[in-house]
Amino acid sequence: MKTQVKALVVGGGAVGTSIAYHLAKAGWGDVMLLERDELTSGSTWHAAGLLPLFNMSFATTHIHQYSVEFYKTLEAETGLNAGFAVVGNLRMAQTDARMDEYMLYASTAETCGVPYEWLTPDEIKAKWPLIETSDLKGALYHRTDGYINPADVTMAMAKGARQRGVAIERKWQADAFEWNGTHWEVTCTKMVEKGGNLVPSEEQIVITAEHVVTASGNHAQRTAQMLGIKMPAIPVEHQFIVMDRDPALVDYRAAGNVEHPVIRDADAQSYVREERGGWILGVYEKNAPARFEYGVPDSFRADLFQLDLERIEDQYMAMNHRIPSAENCGLKDDFNGPICYTPDGNPLVGPAPGLRNMWLAEGFSFGITAAGGTGYYLAQMMVEGEAEIDMASLDPKRYGDWMTTEYAARKNEEAYDHVYILHHPDEERPACRPLRTSPAYDRQAARGAQFGQMNGWERPNYYAPEGFSDHDSRSFRRGGWWQHAVEEARAIREGVGLIDATAFTKHLVRGPGATAFLDWFTCNKLPSVGRINLTYALTGAGTTRTEYTIVRLAQDEYYLVSAGAWTAYDSDYLRKAIADKMPEVGYIECHDVTTQWGVFAIAGPKSRDVLRDLVRDAEPETVLSNKRFPWLTMRNIELGMVPVRAIRVAYTGELGWELHHPIEMQNHLFDALEKAGAPHGMKLVGTRAQNWLRQEKSYRAFGNELGRDATPLEADLPRFVDLSKEFHGKQAMVDHGIRVKCVTLLIDGPEDADPWGREVLYNGERRTGRLTSGGYSVAFGKSIGMGYVQVEDAVVGQKLKVKMLDQLWEAEVVEDSPYDPKNQRIRADI
Ligand SMILES: Cc1cc2nc3c(=O)[nH]c(=O)nc-3n(C[C@H](O)[C@H](O)[C@H](O)COP(=O)(O)OP(=O)(O)OC[C@H]3O[C@@H](n4cnc5c(N)ncnc54)[C@H](O)[C@@H]3O)c2cc1C
Repeated sequence: MKTQVKALVVGGGAVGTSIAYHLAKAGWGDVMLLERDELTSGSTWHAAGLLPLFNMSFATTHIHQYSVEFYKTLEAETGLNAGFAVVGNLRMAQTDARMDEYMLYASTAETCGVPYEWLTPDEIKAKWPLIETSDLKGALYHRTDGYINPADVTMAMAKGARQRGVAIERKWQADAFEWNGTHWEVTCTKMVEKGGNLVPSEEQIVITAEHVVTASGNHAQRTAQMLGIKMPAIPVEHQFIVMDRDPALVDYRAAGNVEHPVIRDADAQSYVREERGGWILGVYEKNAPARFEYGVPDSFRADLFQLDLERIEDQYMAMNHRIPSAENCGLKDDFNGPICYTPDGNPLVGPAPGLRNMWLAEGFSFGITAAGGTGYYLAQMMVEGEAEIDMASLDPKRYGDWMTTEYAARKNEEAYDHVYILHHPDEERPACRPLRTSPAYDRQAARGAQFGQMNGWERPNYYAPEGFSDHDSRSFRRGGWWQHAVEEARAIREGVGLIDATAFTKHLVRGPGATAFLDWFTCNKLPSVGRINLTYALTGAGTTRTEYTIVRLAQDEYYLVSAGAWTAYDSDYLRKAIADKMPEVGYIECHDVTTQWGVFAIAGPKSRDVLRDLVRDAEPETVLSNKRFPWLTMRNIELGMVPVRAIRVAYTGELGWELHHPIEMQNHLFDALEKAGAPHGMKLVGTRAQNWLRQEKSYRAFGNELGRDATPLEADLPRFVDLSKEFHGKQAMVDHGIRVKCVTLLIDGPEDADPWGREVLYNGERRTGRLTSGGYSVAFGKSIGMGYVQVEDAVVGQKLKVKMLDQLWEAEVVEDSPYDPKNQRIRADI
């Protein structure tokens, strides 16, 4: 057995096997796959093998799409048949709202080129007469979907990996990881059988590996403990049952009919597919418990839990309604296995927080579907430095250190329970809330704040009168909250509004090396002392890794503000880059001060009037004037008794300030602002209105327009890129050229709906791109969106079409910042 390799992959399930295969395929000759038991003995062996090609996330759809194409090629490469049945996937809708959901699915599917068809209940009945359709509104049919044998596809990937030189070692368990500065030293223990259990023997070896990938499935918590990190990957029980032969189905197939598609009855929380003349019923039921919060017992190997038929009774009855002939079939087999989850249902794929050359591929709930694509894109990240798609939505660092076992377990149960709920884009999930609250939370709640959760923080989405139900207001069209957001947006455009932006990520970077470091780390000129710049840190591949507002506090002291959702993600990149660069540029300190500073953003033409009543200064009349406090500067001011780091920027595009304040004084400041704001009609405003307003100014949002799949030049932000200096990722950015371009669009959409930022864009018959943001513009009285299109279409005045609710609607590319393009309102003086 080798003891020195380029890459060691820990875990021989579908995911780990695919990663080992793809690392070898990408050119790494020295890869080892380590499995503590037998290949597939984790969750892989008992999966139902469905391959839902399509998922609401852009990155995940690409991953699934790659898998499906890749699995089709495996037989030719390895001679092993993985039992891939391309039977199609029928997503059925019992309600109009579900049809709306599918229309959003369909438009998103088109952005990735996934084919689909609409079927009426009659068309379903004509094709598949065993299905009861009287209560259906219709269905979305993906004919290229199907299912596969999970163990066979894993074995085929293992054979392909071996053919490419991967060493596969079974019955060895990775037990400790130590980084020696250049390599990982992984202590591995030989596992032996003892009374049916798998237990560690005395035999140990140390494997030295330049890179390690963990794909440990249900053992993720043990892996996290060994690595000294947190991972919210905890399994939940998942059940499916296999029914005996159904004579009606046997007759139907004997008559020469092809196999039924996978039948997804989302409103009944279940899926059904054929299995040897009978049916498999899989369910996403309520109250499925999390398991193995503190590790998998030795006695649990390729095992299952006891079936809980009572828990799935409703879904079982619903299947008998949907396929009446199934009612007489006996139960042949049952599976209740651990299925790994994360709080948002997406796996954790990418670099581990705080560690070098340690990669995670954990928390897969659709691991059979995702294995192929995960292997492909993770290998790209490891071998080439970046994947061709933005993997941020899967990044392990999207959860921070605030995350606990209890949080992960309860959220994962919720994620499981929510698999088949209506996925309203304005959905807010209730479990584990409130958890992270800014001090003003109670005051905001008392004023009708309807909170959303982001990175664990509670943030007001909008404010509504007493008795309003956010839950009941959700929709795929304009929800009941829409009117409240309109009023809030208007308040900022016409008067003044106050937004809680406390969740912003904030770092303090200082020391003799800070200036040289940040100059190299970010692509814009650094601001002079007391000034602010918007800038970007790039990936090595020249794409956008993070957006920062940098405030220069002193010669060698900087305050970095970035998106609230990405604190751990930004922190990790910043700290690793500092550690790398420090020997060259000198000492640098980096502090995550996110939870030390509260932030209120005050904006609107009357915002200066509100602040003037509060500000303590020898000349309160002029302290906020353009002369003393110009746009894009920072001043330390006093508002009542609160020392405030005021930053003259406004994400809404109106005259405004971000008021960064000591978090323990937040309530005092809130009360003072409310009192001062009352005579001016100041309105409390939530993030939904803010999101619309920033689109009127074409302000790109991180995670929407800004990410690792486009450069800042493709985001059409050349004014924030200083090409006269050298910075990280510059050459790669230039080499990319402009492949696609970010534009703002005004849209003549349906009367009752706005785009959500996932819709496909056409120029005539040609698919030209997709929206990455969407909403309503109070300034223009119509829908607005931002997105990426082919370069030739990124021209002001270009007419395009956007697909919403299964129809094409007129859209026009408008100049950047269609509202107040000259920024006169932001610069308004006293
Ligand atoms: C009932 C059920 C039905 C499902 N149906 C589907 C479906 O239809 N479609 C779909 O896509 N997904 C389905 N899934 C989910 C799917 O099974 C998982 O997502 C997938 O198997 C995860 O693969 P993995 O490689 O991440 O984990 P696993 O298959 O669990 O593999 C992890 C491996 O790592 C090994 N390991 C752990 N720690 C160590 C260590 N320290 N050293 C060495 N080895 C280690 C384990 O022994 C294990 O073999 C289903 C799950 C269940 C429970």
